[in-house]
Amino acid sequence: MQQGLSENPATVPDLLRDPTLFREAAFTGGRWLLPAGAEHIEVRNPSSGRLLGRIPVLGDSDVDNAISAAREAFSSWRSSMAESRAELLLAWYRLIIQHKEDLAKLITLEQGKPLAESIGEIEYGAGFVRWFAEEARRAYGETIPTHLPGRNLSTVYEPCGVAVLITPWNFPHAMLVRKAAAAIAAGCSVIALQSEETPFSALALAELADRAGFPAGLINVLTGHAKPIVARLCDEPTVRVVSFTGSTAVGRIILQQASETVKRVCMELGGHAPFIGFPDVDMDTLVDAAIAAKFQTSGQDCLAANRIYIHHHIYDEFVKEFTRRTEALKVGDGFDDSVEIGPLQHEGQVRKAIDHVQDAVAKGARLMTGGTRHGAGELFYTPTVLADVTPEMKIYTEETFGPVAALCSFTTEQEVLSAANQSEYGLAAYVYSRDVETCLRMSSNLEYGMVGVNSIKLTGPPIPFGGVKQSGMGREGARYGLREFSNLKYICMNNGSTSGS
Ligand code: NAD
Repeated sequence: MQQGLSENPATVPDLLRDPTLFREAAFTGGRWLLPAGAEHIEVRNPSSGRLLGRIPVLGDSDVDNAISAAREAFSSWRSSMAESRAELLLAWYRLIIQHKEDLAKLITLEQGKPLAESIGEIEYGAGFVRWFAEEARRAYGETIPTHLPGRNLSTVYEPCGVAVLITPWNFPHAMLVRKAAAAIAAGCSVIALQSEETPFSALALAELADRAGFPAGLINVLTGHAKPIVARLCDEPTVRVVSFTGSTAVGRIILQQASETVKRVCMELGGHAPFIGFPDVDMDTLVDAAIAAKFQTSGQDCLAANRIYIHHHIYDEFVKEFTRRTEALKVGDGFDDSVEIGPLQHEGQVRKAIDHVQDAVAKGARLMTGGTRHGAGELFYTPTVLADVTPEMKIYTEETFGPVAALCSFTTEQEVLSAANQSEYGLAAYVYSRDVETCLRMSSNLEYGMVGVNSIKLTGPPIPFGGVKQSGMGREGARYGLREFSNLKYICMNNGSTSGS
């Protein structure tokens, strides 16, 4: 265990190499904002329950000031050279990498995930900043072979305007930079709102953006209660984009609010990934992959395998081996180097895990291991395996977002395909088979935005991340990420070579 972290009474700044990365204020118009007399929200370490710090609850006028600052910044940033956008993003990228240990500590302190996973999250997020720095230079429009005599036809991408970014607590760094880097590269200004449970990663990013030389108002990070703040931002006609990552339930509310002023929306919502294992795959490979697909961030991952379908020929052996491996997972504080499973974010997540397990067992699932709170602390839940899960059980259709694995057996390819597609979600799916034709058929027919074939790792800056059905709309990363913040303008120009209008 590293010294002086979660269990140490030292304050958060004492734990950081650069204490000024820890900010307990909002950042608007290029300044730290701590409104006099504002109510505060306490932020706690989910592992120990200790108070980490407080953030101010911004009021309507603070939100309005942030909108004005973002609008003002947009008025000049929109016409900045692609080169300047790239340079600014690269400066931000270098600072993020330079401070990655401190940034990772902030994630583990406020979110609880193991420090190695937090480092991975910083590197993953920073990769998007570099990617979009490069993409800023390549936001090409096109010329169109004309259908009108004497006209030159072309398209250009233009920035949409002020973009609001709303992000969840499970990846408090990466979800924000993935959006912010794309928006800024496209020429938009940004108002970000990170979950009130994990605000410090976002505020540290604002500090680094300031040091990188971001013009005042280009990035604003609000603090406070999401509901009134988002409602106000959605009411504002000059906010032109709302990019949201979070649950499908909240996504629906924000979609409605954004519809009043017909904003551009990008929705990265919940997932319920099927993991499908065919019998021609070696057992160790299958179990390793399923463990990785289920338990990262204690299962609090939109890509987490929520239904694990294993062919009936190998099902019993898989259940045994998967259970043995689950029992070996080390649970505890994220600063302990040997820990693989940290706490859940809040009591609601623990109760959901308990509810899903009780419901499944009552309906006939076999509890192979776990099924209880874990002694490491109030928000810890023991990694759990349920076998023989069936469609009537809540866990089969609802996103668990906890360390509970639901195993099901299947007989035919058609049967498992149809079961996997019977979900309102459509974010990611995983298929394991050695047969190339099976892989081709499955990847074509799975109704998901992303399919990992013999691969759990699938995300990163060059790929279009996103879902179908009620997992959302729009894509992050790749060249498509920039388009979420860009308007395509068509220009028809009379070149004077023919008469007439
Ligand atoms: P959530 O929907 O409760 O909250 C997400 C964000 O919305 C937070 O910033 C929160 O403060 C804000 N919010 C909450 N209620 C709001 C309201 N009524 N009006 C406006 N804003 C509101 O989600 P969560 O519990 O923080 O995160 C978990 C969810 O996020 C899961 O469903 C997970 O699958 C999803 N997620 C999706 C992706 C993806 O890329 N598709 C990535 C990570 C997480």
